[in-house]
Amino acid sequence: MYEFVIFLLYITIIGLFAVCVFTLTKWGGRLHTYLFFYCVSNLVYNIGYINLLHTTDQVTYVNALKLGYFGRLWVGLSMALFIAELCGKVFPVAVKAGAAIYNMIVYFFILNLEHNRLYYKTMEFKMVGDFPTLPHSGGPIYYVYTSLNLLYAILCIYLIVQAYIRERNETAKKRDLFLLLSIIALVSTYVIYFFKLIYLARIFDIMIVGYAVCTAFMLIAIVKYKMLDTTAAAKNYVVDELSEGIIAVDRENNVSYYNKPAQKLFPQLEAAKSSDESILKLLNDFDSSISTGEPVRINGRIYTPRINPLTEDNTHIGTLYSLSDDTDHYRYMDELREQKQIADSANEAKSVFLANMSHEIRTPINAVLGFNEMITRECEKFKAAKEEKSSAVCEAFENIGTFSGNIEGAGNNLLSIINDILDLSKIEAGKMELVEGEYSLRSLLRDVDGMISFRASEKELAFITDVDETLPDKLFGDLVRVRQVITNILTNAVKYTDAGNVKLIVRAEEGSVIKAGEILNLIVTVKDTGIGIRDEDIKKMFSSFERLDLKRNSTIEGTGLGLSIADQLISMMGGKITVSSEYGSGSTFVITIPQKISSIEPVGDFKINTGNVDKEKKPYKVSFKASDSFVLVVDDSIVNLRVAKALLRDTGLTIDTADSGNKALELTLGKKYDVILMDQRMPNMDGTEALKNIRAQVEGPNSETPVVCMTADAIIGSREKYINAGFDDYLSKPVKSAELEQTLIKYLPEDKISRSTGS
Ligand code: ADP
Repeated sequence: MYEFVIFLLYITIIGLFAVCVFTLTKWGGRLHTYLFFYCVSNLVYNIGYINLLHTTDQVTYVNALKLGYFGRLWVGLSMALFIAELCGKVFPVAVKAGAAIYNMIVYFFILNLEHNRLYYKTMEFKMVGDFPTLPHSGGPIYYVYTSLNLLYAILCIYLIVQAYIRERNETAKKRDLFLLLSIIALVSTYVIYFFKLIYLARIFDIMIVGYAVCTAFMLIAIVKYKMLDTTAAAKNYVVDELSEGIIAVDRENNVSYYNKPAQKLFPQLEAAKSSDESILKLLNDFDSSISTGEPVRINGRIYTPRINPLTEDNTHIGTLYSLSDDTDHYRYMDELREQKQIADSANEAKSVFLANMSHEIRTPINAVLGFNEMITRECEKFKAAKEEKSSAVCEAFENIGTFSGNIEGAGNNLLSIINDILDLSKIEAGKMELVEGEYSLRSLLRDVDGMISFRASEKELAFITDVDETLPDKLFGDLVRVRQVITNILTNAVKYTDAGNVKLIVRAEEGSVIKAGEILNLIVTVKDTGIGIRDEDIKKMFSSFERLDLKRNSTIEGTGLGLSIADQLISMMGGKITVSSEYGSGSTFVITIPQKISSIEPVGDFKINTGNVDKEKKPYKVSFKASDSFVLVVDDSIVNLRVAKALLRDTGLTIDTADSGNKALELTLGKKYDVILMDQRMPNMDGTEALKNIRAQVEGPNSETPVVCMTADAIIGSREKYINAGFDDYLSKPVKSAELEQTLIKYLPEDKISRSTGS
């Protein structure tokens, strides 16, 4: 018997050693670590016990016992950790650390076995046949330790049973069964050992047999069912980590496998018996989603199901359903569609705008060219009739006057379109700035009244003004922009009204305090009896390039920029604009503009003292004469040179012209000029370069002559750009004769100028 036990121990030791080596060769992850830990502790336990069987007295027995306990103490814990890991459960670190500390405390008492009564209360060495024994009665620590080991075993049984029930894979189920058997064998030996149910249990620690049997079952599970096969583990891991949910069913639609994401999506999978109604419904939903192409929606997310037949040796064995979470993809597509719609409509608005613009610009150009042709003809007529001095001469002059007036109208129209575009680009670039100063509300209203009543009378519309006479006259704000906004709304009212009247009402907001320094909310209301605006169009009318109701408005001139600019200017000034309209009957625009009161002197009747506001343009009168001064105009366009010369004819200035930068440099070397007007965009040498070269002519007479940039480059920041480049001043083309004269007066020597009176 004794020899048999020794033999059994050797076999166990060899077995454990083999498992240790096996585990080491397949090392990877916590599972292997725990198994290795379990085998090594078991190995130490067995080696200690073999030693113990060779002792013949208490001292050597107790020493061998202590060595054995060094392993035995850890067997239960390492086994529990291993089984838990295998079943997918993880012990919190604190629990693991607590158990380890507890083991060490127990070992401390075992090491001092002879000197305390906490582990063994009593003990007495005795030989029973060949077996050395140490009959003892346990102390408190002994019982706690023993119960804890039993607890580990029960925990393992619980975890394995749970895993067995959950498991769908047949091989894994068999593996779980073997593990269960191994633990049951262990617990049985435990019970026999504890209650000393058989004789052997009295003379021998049969727990060692229990652990040996347990280890043997485990070995079977490991080898036969590839428990430590990392490839299988890796596959499982990967499948569980996929974002796709995967469900496999057999030929009878029994669920044989599902991964973690699928379980999360369909918790019913866990509870369901393989071919429950709920599962069949689920599979049906997938099938119909695949056939209709409609994705499946679960908890606000969107999934696309896919289906794959599973075959083995060309035999159909089941079906694999996979479900990918395509929410982001669908959202992205929705966003793209939305963006495309926005881009398409913006693009459409721009195309319409461009077509419109080209039409709008062509109209005044047509007028310019047409009337110019008429002027030429009239001049011919004049030449032919010169000798006769007949009434034809007077008639020709009259006609020329009318045509030139028309050309001016067309030119101004063209300019206002270009100005609108510039304004819009300034606003969009965030470069629009208000230029504030004190102004007279009275003269603003007079200007507006003059312009609008003229246009209204052309269409035979009544223009009615109703201005609160107590409004303060002197306000502080951006006069140009306030006038632009009011004029724009009034011009529209006239444009879109065929009969009836246009009314302008100007008031202070109710409750305003009229006191210098206070803010006055100026309420400007424009009412018309025109075509009106449809409700659905009111929202759109402030967008750039939008023209409404094109069928009705196609014959009315416009670019669709005015209101957008007005709206943005009003916001910049801190005000607002509202519109109400009855389609077919008329519209009402109400603008609120906050302006600071400079002084409280009232506007009174703004029309008084003005007579009827100038409907006709004042005849041109030169503002100065400077016949001793010399001006050089540089421009590559001969027409522009002629225009400049013609505009300055009455000033008496001596004007030289250069059609290139090089020609200008030749002239500036030879003659002293009082002012140079320089175009920027010229071939070979541009204006800025020509300016630099003139400044570099230190020997010449013009290195310090004021040079004014006169250019059609009128976009945002142009003035600053050219002043920074070294020019003394900036004039944008088309140049107005008054502006040109004002600029020249600034730079011509005072003693050479004689100013005209009344200009
Ligand atoms: P437009 O240069 O086309 O007049 P606006 O930006 O000034 O551009 O106006 C935008 C659109 O709003 C116009 O095309 C017109 O359809 C509509 N609209 C503006 N004012 C009126 C009004 N008083 N009555 C009817 N429709 C108007």
